[in-house]
Amino acid sequence: MVVRLVPFGFIYYWILEYLSENLPKAYGVEVIINRSSLTVPKFVYDSFSSQIMSEKFLDYLRVVDNWPRNEKILAIVDGDAYARGTNFVFGQAEVGGRFGAVFIARLNPSFYGGSENDGLFLLRILKEASHELGHMLGLGHCDNARCVMSFSNSIWEVDKKGWMPCDKCRRSISLDSQA
Ligand SMILES: [Zn+2]
Ligand SMILES: [Zn+2]
Repeated sequence: MVVRLVPFGFIYYWILEYLSENLPKAYGVEVIINRSSLTVPKFVYDSFSSQIMSEKFLDYLRVVDNWPRNEKILAIVDGDAYARGTNFVFGQAEVGGRFGAVFIARLNPSFYGGSENDGLFLLRILKEASHELGHMLGLGHCDNARCVMSFSNSIWEVDKKGWMPCDKCRRSISLDSQA
């Protein structure tokens, strides 16, 4: 299974490198980094809140390139997003599907008025990337608060959980999706 990380907007390369080093440890996947950075198109923004609409973004992600059929596509997006019925999301993905996205604006400590903290920022991005990739590999939400697949409704809950799937979640990843 190959996972392609696709940066949208300005994403530091060390973020992508950190994800490509660590996501294989969580799921045994191969991770590659897309060479070019893409631009978030204007039409996926809500003109009122100036947030990205995550469903529209995923629709765009599906068609913006002829992605290789055997790859899962995980967008790392410089921006803030919401999904239908929510005020914000940290990410969104198709369960058992090929496409997912992490929106990093709200994962940055400076978003909440805190000081810059690259280590914390990186760890949060890894947790959310690992969570969305878990969905793409067929996992739902998990009751184990330490498991990366537990649902996070706030940045506090993101900080509480780990970046690895628990044993139960690992075991339930279907062998098909690892092919
Ligand atoms: Zn989730
Ligand atoms: Zn779990």
